[in-house]
Amino acid sequence: MNGYTGQTLWVDLTRQTVEVKATDDDAARRMLGGRGLGIALLTDLAPAGVDPLAPENPLILATGPYTGAGVFSAFFNVTTKSPLTGLAAASHCGGKWGPGFKRAGFDALVVTGSAVRPFYLVLEEGRAVLKDADHLRGLGVFATEAKLQADHPGAEVACIGPAGEKRVRFATLMNGHRAAGRGGVGAVMGSKQLKAIVVKGKIGTELFDREKVKAISGQGGKKALEVAQAFAKFGSSIAFDFFNSKHALPTRNFRGGHFPDAPRINAQALKDKYFVKDRGCLTCPLKCGNVHQVKEGPYRLEEVEGPEYETLMAFGSNCGNSNLESILMANLLCNDLGMDTITCGNTCAWLMDLYESGIIADSDVDGIPMPWGRHESIMALIPRIGARQGIGDVLAEGSYRAAGKWGERALARVIHAKKQEYPGYESRRSFGTGFSLATSSRGACHLRAQLYVNELFAGEFQEKGFEAHIGTIIDKEHFLAVADSMLTCKFGMRNAGYTWPVLTELYNALTGETLAVDDLKRIGERIWTLERLYNLREGVEADTLPPRLFTEDLDDGRPGGERVDEKRFLAARGLYYRARGWDAQGRPSDQQRLELGLV
Ligand code: SF4
Repeated sequence: MNGYTGQTLWVDLTRQTVEVKATDDDAARRMLGGRGLGIALLTDLAPAGVDPLAPENPLILATGPYTGAGVFSAFFNVTTKSPLTGLAAASHCGGKWGPGFKRAGFDALVVTGSAVRPFYLVLEEGRAVLKDADHLRGLGVFATEAKLQADHPGAEVACIGPAGEKRVRFATLMNGHRAAGRGGVGAVMGSKQLKAIVVKGKIGTELFDREKVKAISGQGGKKALEVAQAFAKFGSSIAFDFFNSKHALPTRNFRGGHFPDAPRINAQALKDKYFVKDRGCLTCPLKCGNVHQVKEGPYRLEEVEGPEYETLMAFGSNCGNSNLESILMANLLCNDLGMDTITCGNTCAWLMDLYESGIIADSDVDGIPMPWGRHESIMALIPRIGARQGIGDVLAEGSYRAAGKWGERALARVIHAKKQEYPGYESRRSFGTGFSLATSSRGACHLRAQLYVNELFAGEFQEKGFEAHIGTIIDKEHFLAVADSMLTCKFGMRNAGYTWPVLTELYNALTGETLAVDDLKRIGERIWTLERLYNLREGVEADTLPPRLFTEDLDDGRPGGERVDEKRFLAARGLYYRARGWDAQGRPSDQQRLELGLV
């Protein structure tokens, strides 16, 4: 089928076998690729109730028909059962590896089983070989990449760091400084003893109408450059001041929405003192990754890409930390250890909250004092977490599970949805955005609906309230499920003006199919519904907010940050379920499953 290489690789680490099979065209038509194909394979292959770190939990890496075909197309998706949430984890990653994987000759990779010693996988020109990775054991992401690139010149590397090997529940899969960041996909890779995947090749993918793909993507790139100059210059950190001005920036473990020290750690401060150069994913005109350097001092570092907005929030305002160099170092450490900066930073913020609340003392944290803003303490914790040393072994479980050590009061301070820590959006000043974190199919996640764009950037829900826009959230959930499956960058495509008609035209040009817009929407609904069905099978918890957001006002001196009205939230959830055709418990109907071909 056009847009696909036609080959899927199946690797069994228990038996150390590799097998190339034809990509299932029917599955590709129904689920597109990436996240869609991932959830279909996960549903079929993972036994119900499987331990995410057991050999039977599959790790699925998949590209889509758009991967490597134009601007904003450098992405691949990783799906598995998450060790953090116990639900489907689908995490996407930019950089260069996705297109390289496709040029090596593969659409997707399914890894099952578990070896007794580490291996890495080499994919080159349609062939696959497992190699001994004993010499890479315990190495950081950047040393691993350097060694493998020396041994395989011209190759791209995706790998885990020590945190993945230690099965930290929020370990990442990295390609350079780019991460498949959320849900602990790196821990699953570590549980299989797969350290890295090296890709190299020049295999081209047939596209139905290459000129049209080129034209659509070229136009999109041009438009994005026109409308997103600030984003191109600063990256996502440009949002830091904006959310702070709205008093919607999580501060001191979501106690407040405003950080007075923001000018010390914002995008301009990064640019003024530490900026070295731009860096972007393959063929991206925006190049939103800013490379920084700290020339001297305790946090001296040669190079780090980022921090992005979420990292500035998690290790900065949410920890009450205004030392920018420490945030840069925290970013580098997390990238090298292979850990999600959102969960790691918020876990540190939560610990500081417990300390300030008198729930824990230094003696609970290996003798480390944890007052707000003490960056030396954050720096002491990160390597401990990555190595599961001392208190790090507890924190490596994520804040929800770690709370078990200190009881109910500690649990009540955790800000999570379905055991995954929140991204940087204050629900008490953005009801709709908060609502979308509760309905997200992978635990708290801003990228499942990107509702902050509508609500905070565009001010869309003010006049009639969020409840009048239930259709918007559902439409965006489906739209972004399609984007994650064709695979395109969400930042790029938003600025490029990729709407449903554009994505449909693009898909048809890539594949030669003749879908109408409604057909593509249907596929988005199918992907979202299958994720829901998988999560229900695995015992998904209620779609709700952490209790604190219903019971605690924002404490930052500005009115309008009152607690979320729980009755309003529950009523909106009822509307959402009804609009989706789900029952009062959020279960899709048999009829709906039949219509979507999910029986
Ligand atoms: S906008 Fe940023 S994340 Fe997206 S493709 Fe470009 S460089 Fe990568």
